[in-house]
Amino acid sequence: MKTEFTAEQLENPKIARANEILRSCVHCGFCTATCPTYQVLGDELDSPRGRIYLIKDMLENDRVPDAKTVKHIDRCLSCLACMTTCPSGVHYMHLVDQAREYIEERYKRPLGDRVLRWILARILPYPMRFRVALLGAKIGRPFARLMPDARLRAMLEMAPKQVPPVSRNDDPQSFAPQGARKKRVALMTGCAQRALNTDINDATIRLAHPAGLRGGSGRGGGLLPGR
Ligand code: SF4
Ligand code: SF4
Repeated sequence: MKTEFTAEQLENPKIARANEILRSCVHCGFCTATCPTYQVLGDELDSPRGRIYLIKDMLENDRVPDAKTVKHIDRCLSCLACMTTCPSGVHYMHLVDQAREYIEERYKRPLGDRVLRWILARILPYPMRFRVALLGAKIGRPFARLMPDARLRAMLEMAPKQVPPVSRNDDPQSFAPQGARKKRVALMTGCAQRALNTDINDATIRLAHPAGLRGGSGRGGGLLPGR
């Protein structure tokens, strides 16, 4: 992709890195096949390629982000599925992270957005707070239609009917090797999944260390030692 950053802009190492990444994109669109937001919404601007164009335009013109650009960048899930199908090795992750930083520095979100984001930032990364919120959502679900904000309505409707029990596998710990040690694996236990679906970490531990599971959440774990 052709870029037109000025020499002065390129003195900024962040812009220089973004320039390198942008130039490696050949517009082929292979990434759109694995992008979940493009698959669901069908809008080019909700595809990796579309977002790359938006980011290029924003950075090149050193402009204040507009609501449209912010909407399409916000919709990116950062799942990075696009990077797995890109034949040119475009480092989309750095690009979108940089765009998000740029947006946070220069864009003033509407008050409702700021309040919602403030609340989410204080709940989602803390599994116990999130569990309490999920229990609240369970109670509030029948009243979802009365919610004035469509996003709150959607959140209530999406909340799981059952909150899984706490898994002891999510506690900080290490498992001694069974037999000769082959590799050492560090597992980032995450935040939301420790409240939403404890099976994920239980299954990962089972895979990496079959004898290591100590009961887990009791929902899918419990491999016998030595198996
Ligand atoms: S697959 Fe890679 S090179 Fe092709 S459009 Fe997507 S990001 Fe660009
Ligand atoms: S990170 Fe995921 S949602 Fe974002 S552009 Fe890539 S595939 Fe699409």
